Amino acid sequence: MGARATETTRELESTSIKYQIGGHAEKMWQRLKGILRCLVKQLEKGDINVVDLKKNIEYAASVLEAVYIDETRKLLDTEDELSDIQSDSVPLEVRDWLASTFTREMGIVKRRPEEKPKFRSIVHAVQAGIFVERMYRRTSSMVGLAYPAEVIVTFKIPVPNLISFAEALEVGYSKYKNPYHNLIHAADVTQTVHYIMIHTGIMHWLTELEILAMIFAAAVHDYEHTGTTNNFHIQTRSDVAILYNDRSVLENHHVSAAYRLMQEEEMNILANLTKDDWRELRSLVIEMVLSTDMSGHFQQIKTMRHTLQQTEGVDKAKAMSLILHAADISHPAKSWELHYRWTMALMEEFFRQGDKEAALGLQFSPLCDRKSTLVAQSQIGFIDFIVEPTFSLLTDSMEKIVMPLIEEASKSESPAFGTPSQNSLGAVSNAEAQRRPSFKSTSDGGTHTENSLATVDLTSFKDNLMKIIQANKERWKELAVEEELVKNVGEQEKDQSRNSTDAQLQEETTRIQNESSQGSDGTTCPPRSIVLQVVSFDTPLSDESNSEKCTNSDPNQKDLTDAQQETQNTDPLNGEPKHCKKSEDSVKATEKEALIQN
Ligand code: AMP
Ligand code: ZN
Repeated sequence: MGARATETTRELESTSIKYQIGGHAEKMWQRLKGILRCLVKQLEKGDINVVDLKKNIEYAASVLEAVYIDETRKLLDTEDELSDIQSDSVPLEVRDWLASTFTREMGIVKRRPEEKPKFRSIVHAVQAGIFVERMYRRTSSMVGLAYPAEVIVTFKIPVPNLISFAEALEVGYSKYKNPYHNLIHAADVTQTVHYIMIHTGIMHWLTELEILAMIFAAAVHDYEHTGTTNNFHIQTRSDVAILYNDRSVLENHHVSAAYRLMQEEEMNILANLTKDDWRELRSLVIEMVLSTDMSGHFQQIKTMRHTLQQTEGVDKAKAMSLILHAADISHPAKSWELHYRWTMALMEEFFRQGDKEAALGLQFSPLCDRKSTLVAQSQIGFIDFIVEPTFSLLTDSMEKIVMPLIEEASKSESPAFGTPSQNSLGAVSNAEAQRRPSFKSTSDGGTHTENSLATVDLTSFKDNLMKIIQANKERWKELAVEEELVKNVGEQEKDQSRNSTDAQLQEETTRIQNESSQGSDGTTCPPRSIVLQVVSFDTPLSDESNSEKCTNSDPNQKDLTDAQQETQNTDPLNGEPKHCKKSEDSVKATEKEALIQN
């Protein structure tokens, strides 16, 4: 009998090792089942001694562990997603950038130097483009800042603290004068998060504390961004890279520095939260902001996809992180005019990093060489591999979460569904409501029927987004044809074609500038919302005298701290610009006032 048990042990040993190496989880499960059944039989017959039994159980445990490791590894493995990127239809430079930016494996797609494109691309067009620099209206205008009374009352946020904090945020976002990662981006992402929460109905699933965490995380998520990437920080061994051990360097800084602000009493907007709420909010904010590190993108998508396939509910922090991540890369899901401008702003920021890299004798990071970067091609790759899958996952997740709420609400005719009733369906479970006694169990409190679950139309939300994303991709494809031409022609022809590409992009830039500044009545005006300083890149960005102050007193023009209020009236993911009346005569060719619809 001992011999048979030892036989089982040996079999187990070789099996577990083989499976650890080969990772055939399915076979491993079958084998494990067989072995355990065999042990049970031996036990029933009394055909085994205790020592062998112990050994066999230990081996069974090790096989189980091997299966677990194998399964976990599969979940952590982002190779599946990356294999698509290897496709020859994606230019090498773009593949290189996707792999190095959106995974933790730096340079997973090795650059073959001989294939590196060696042409000068669209520098002039970029230089002539419209770029986001800073908002005009200083925060003094925030005296009249109108937050919905309920928000202030619910969280008891001291208004003077809120103003000081928002002012400090604006200063921090303006510190490095970034074309892209500036206070407009913060306002844009904050408003987009707000939009997603309302239009998907997810707000009915979240508690008020969680909604506050979402808005707060969006507002601070790029605070004091240096305009350079995590990898640049790591390569240059910057102070923050050293401080955060090369892990999510910028993201750690954003959230840490924002919390540091609130250590000052007059900026502490969370002063009235209970200890538990403060801790819970902090934990959510940290998780959300850290999840905006793009190197975790594929992992985040994979984990969330996996969650959706399970029968259990969706983890709140994970769902909230996905919303913030989606909002952070949402400009391709907005009108072409906006998307184009954001893209060019980001490219200029990348190119400035490239300039720094050149000055430091470092290799160019992907997309950072202003002389050879394939802008249109990179955008197609970005949309195909990053944006579309993210928004598709976002809408699938929202469906899984919100559909049951809608069904339940329609049955009980709860306030969340638009008909006030005693029998309200809380977006939050009773247990959760009890856990946070200082918050009402639903975010709408039964008063805001305009944002009720009854008005949620997830299908249109999804269709609309996907349509815009597709349309934008088509525009890039048109521009990519020219880009490709330039890449392939000879040196002399290259110059001519480059002029043509540049001219085409220049034309696009001018067209967008004109569209942005022409009212439907023919008067020159910005569309609406946030006033941007648009400057040529030759213009010293720090020089206040170069900034034509916007004299337009249109109350629709808001700055970062007003942005949330805008959300009630605007549709950032759908954005047809509305027009205002005021004409702007003092606009110069290289220094214009523009508005970004937000
Ligand atoms: P964040 O840096 O937190 O704003 O995250 C957004 C990141 O998404 C950027 O830093 C870029 O890496 C990437 N991204 C956003 N828009 C684009 C775009 N149009 N093209 C390429 N990458 C983009
Ligand atoms: Zn961002």
